[in-house]
Amino acid sequence: MNAVIYCRVSTKEQVDNFSLENQQKICREYAARSGFVVVEVFVDEGESAKTTDRPDFLRMVNFCCKQKGKIDAVIVYKLDRFSRNVGDYQAIRAALARYHVRLLSATEQLDETPAGHLMENVLSATAQFDNEVKSERVKQGMKAMFDSGYWSWVVPLGYKRIRNNAKRGTIIPDPEIAPIVVFGLTEFSKGIYSQTDILKKLTRKGLRTIKGRKLTKQFIGRMLREKFYAGYVVSKKRHEEAKGTHQPLIGLEIFLRNQQVLAGKTFGTNPRPKLRLEYPLRGFAQCPNCKKPMTASRSRGHGGCYDYYHDYGQHRCGKSFKVSDVHQDFADYLSQVVPIEARLRLLEAVIKDVYGTKQQEAGQDQKRINEQVAKLTVRKSKLIDLIADGTVSKDDGKQKLEEIRKETEELMLLGAEMTADGFDVGTAAHRFAQSLKNPSQFWKNLKVVEQKVKFQSLIFPKGVVYQNPGFGTSQMGLLFQLTPDLGVEKSRLVRTRGLEPPPLAGLAP
Ligand SMILES: [Zn+2]
Repeated sequence: MNAVIYCRVSTKEQVDNFSLENQQKICREYAARSGFVVVEVFVDEGESAKTTDRPDFLRMVNFCCKQKGKIDAVIVYKLDRFSRNVGDYQAIRAALARYHVRLLSATEQLDETPAGHLMENVLSATAQFDNEVKSERVKQGMKAMFDSGYWSWVVPLGYKRIRNNAKRGTIIPDPEIAPIVVFGLTEFSKGIYSQTDILKKLTRKGLRTIKGRKLTKQFIGRMLREKFYAGYVVSKKRHEEAKGTHQPLIGLEIFLRNQQVLAGKTFGTNPRPKLRLEYPLRGFAQCPNCKKPMTASRSRGHGGCYDYYHDYGQHRCGKSFKVSDVHQDFADYLSQVVPIEARLRLLEAVIKDVYGTKQQEAGQDQKRINEQVAKLTVRKSKLIDLIADGTVSKDDGKQKLEEIRKETEELMLLGAEMTADGFDVGTAAHRFAQSLKNPSQFWKNLKVVEQKVKFQSLIFPKGVVYQNPGFGTSQMGLLFQLTPDLGVEKSRLVRTRGLEPPPLAGLAP
């Protein structure tokens, strides 16, 4: 009687008892015991437990077919070497039976009786079950790794997994991508940018998804909610979290602040009064009596509309002052303020530096955009070729071309936006520094309320207390000081005021 031996071994198994030599030895012993002559040995190597992609298995079946009648049995070490799938097993067994070839297991009892068939089926089923349990085992392994703070799923953008001795590898920040991610997360935590703003900023810096796709608003949302960046691993399914073993990209406080911003919560409990150009000192000038920040409103009476600064809130004393008077007093107060010359030069240098860096960044961003556009152009021409030779259907191609066109257009727009604000920093910085030499005029000339308020805070970081008339000495910012001849200036503050407030027209620019 003739037999062939079929062995299958995965590279991992080479080291243990399933080694090729071991399988072959046991099969040969079995053959000898059962009175078979081994005419050929077939061996498949590979990780896959699936029947496909096994060249020697197919060669063996072919061999049995060609040697019709000359081969009596196929001997395998174990049934699961043969097939891990019941259906496959039955089909193969049936195919072999057609050539009158029996399938024998060197380590399992198989026979052609009904009991033997049952046994065969049970064994095959076990092999299949084992194959399926494997994926369950993978999940278990993940759970264990999760509990020990290892991340076993796909790592978030900004990290990469490096292979090392610890099989599953180590997760480290990607030196190129991580800084961009940090930039985005930190910018958002300031609470002044929308998710769309962040999307734009990061796209401009060349950030793409792991698969190289364009970022979406949804992606940004997920990124902002990803606690992994703050050093935690979170299982959403199991609602568990643990401190990770990876290096955090951001502090927990930034993560938490981002969650607040996402939830639409503002930070101060007191909402700032709405800024209006008519009332730039709103929330900035304080009531002389109760020292509460004043707001402003318009009241009707005496045949006209009059604007007043007045205190508000629970323990207000109820004083109010004509807006025009307060503004005049403030302008007068500012005329006693001068910038510190040496610091002005420092300011100029800082402006140049900051804008220089920004321009440099813009240059780098521009370069990245150009690269992206170039890539898209290549993709486009490849796609056109694929449509031309019919590999890609016209409809699919059309849609993809449209996507590429849109993305290119957006990138071009971003690029145009950036080049538009290129200007001579040196000149601008110098001009700005010079104009600070007359703060009163500078303040009056500012026509954007946010700028006006910023400028006020630059001089008086803690606001000013109204004295009616004039202003009390307030803490000054680093750039400014009161003119040394203050005593002389003070006399200017005592002015006569008319009984009727001036009309509004003379007030607001
Ligand atoms: Zn008051």
